[in-house]
Amino acid sequence: MAEHEHEHVRVAVVGSGFGGVGAAVRLRREGVTDFVVLERADSVGGTWRDNSYPGCACDVPSHLYSFSFAPNPDWPRTFSGQEHIRAYLERVTDVFRLRPHLRFNSEVKKMTWDGQELRWEIETSSGRLTADLVVSATGPLPDPKVPDIPGLDTFPGKVFHSARWDHDYDLHGKRVAMVGTGASAIQIVPAIQPDVAKLVLFQRTPPWVMPRIDRAITGAERRLHRAVPLTTQLRRGLLWGIRELQVQAFTKHPNELGLVEQLAKRNMARAIKDPALRAKLTPDYRIGCKRILLSSDYYPAIARPNVDVVASGLSEINGSTVIASDGTETEVDAIVFGTGFHVTDMPIAERVVGAEGRTLAEVWKDGMEALRGASAAGFPNWMTIIGPNTGLGNSSMILMIESQLNYLADFVRQLDVLGGRVALDARPSAVHAWNRRVQERMKRTVWNTGGCTSWYLDAAGRNTTIWPGTTGEFRRATRRVDLAEYAVLRPRTDVRTGEQDTVEAAV
Ligand SMILES: Cc1cc2nc3c(=O)[nH]c(=O)nc-3n(C[C@H](O)[C@H](O)[C@H](O)COP(=O)(O)OP(=O)(O)OC[C@H]3O[C@@H](n4cnc5c(N)ncnc54)[C@H](O)[C@@H]3O)c2cc1C
Repeated sequence: MAEHEHEHVRVAVVGSGFGGVGAAVRLRREGVTDFVVLERADSVGGTWRDNSYPGCACDVPSHLYSFSFAPNPDWPRTFSGQEHIRAYLERVTDVFRLRPHLRFNSEVKKMTWDGQELRWEIETSSGRLTADLVVSATGPLPDPKVPDIPGLDTFPGKVFHSARWDHDYDLHGKRVAMVGTGASAIQIVPAIQPDVAKLVLFQRTPPWVMPRIDRAITGAERRLHRAVPLTTQLRRGLLWGIRELQVQAFTKHPNELGLVEQLAKRNMARAIKDPALRAKLTPDYRIGCKRILLSSDYYPAIARPNVDVVASGLSEINGSTVIASDGTETEVDAIVFGTGFHVTDMPIAERVVGAEGRTLAEVWKDGMEALRGASAAGFPNWMTIIGPNTGLGNSSMILMIESQLNYLADFVRQLDVLGGRVALDARPSAVHAWNRRVQERMKRTVWNTGGCTSWYLDAAGRNTTIWPGTTGEFRRATRRVDLAEYAVLRPRTDVRTGEQDTVEAAV
């Protein structure tokens, strides 16, 4: 494609959730101003824009679930709701003057590596552009997953996924089937239970649920945080430290989590008096194997007479009758899917075509892997934020995002130091060595040994999503880009034919 036909930028960031907004702030701090943020929606926010279901809130305290470089002394609650987190990201966007870089309604359809020009050709729904470097921040949970239930097309009522809540549909007085008992569902159930006529909860596997100690942050606390910013940092530090201490139990000594199971059982017993229902709700796997959910109102809501728990998955729909795998049949007016997201089959991977003409999805067909959670071999100058094995079971993803932003900043610095037209391509040996270490550590963790199947595991049962260590360890591992782990690519012109190709250059 001729140079004049489209715009060229130094960096294209894809996505404007915490990852994309954070990358934009970091690029500006590194002195990079020639960048765009491509976002398929019409506002920033990512997760916290798309998930607006009743009761949607963070299960990490707000002072930890926020950027360290943009502390918010005014968080209203210890665990903030979706609307406050979304508003926070909008404010960060304004305060750091990111608006000129944002391109809304620009869905990235395809990114193709041009090995001759050493840059990415990007096709979006609003036009084409090229970029020296792509930062893919499309998120770990961007696209909802709706199971293929036989007969769904015969259902005459309302159907939607928790991540695409239909606020125009009034659930008041309706008979509702809630499918799934994951993190979203346990927030939705208590929020809608008082309004609906009947709530049928399809539970394939019960979650472990711990109480959520949520309260309003007092005016005095907020005034203190505003007057003495160090107190916000201290609060954050304390929240971080507590979670770091828990990591050993998840990663090395899962048996120690038995004590936590007792607390979770007590939490359930307080609200659920019927032993048969308690039995249905009691998990048979080690706590922590699936994400530990936090709620103080889930069990009380379930105990209400208008809620039925069907301890089985939804297997079929026949008109307005929903049928569980155990044969239970119920008539409903609406079905809400709280069935999670495409995680181990990251949707953007289908759209990225690397140096060998293969998509990232093809390269990852046997499991996602990336060097330090960021770089895939054969995809030069392409980094992902919250890539493979960067997820957390017990702490704030913002900590991991910020570590990856450090890595991004050093990546940009290394390219500057190398100078000229240059690209860094993760060496396959480095990617494999990193992943061998990650998978070796994974063997002892509760996510692999706890006796559950979860969305952390891919189709082959490999855990390609979770980081098996502390956030501090990940911070240290991503502080610098080690050039020995990358091939440095330069363009080369054949003096006889004038044709260009790419060679690995000495550093
Ligand atoms: C309901 C819910 C609750 C959660 N609660 C917590 C929690 O309590 N604690 C925690 O640590 N984490 C939580 N998470 C995880 C959360 O996803 C991360 O913490 C974090 O918000 C991810 O930020 P991100 O920017 O990487 O991704 P996202 O916030 O998902 O943003 C990705 C952005 O990329 C855009 N995009 C995707 N594809 C394209 C494309 N092809 N072209 C252009 N734009 C594209 C999307 O529109 C979106 O705006 C939760 C997730 C969900 C869904």
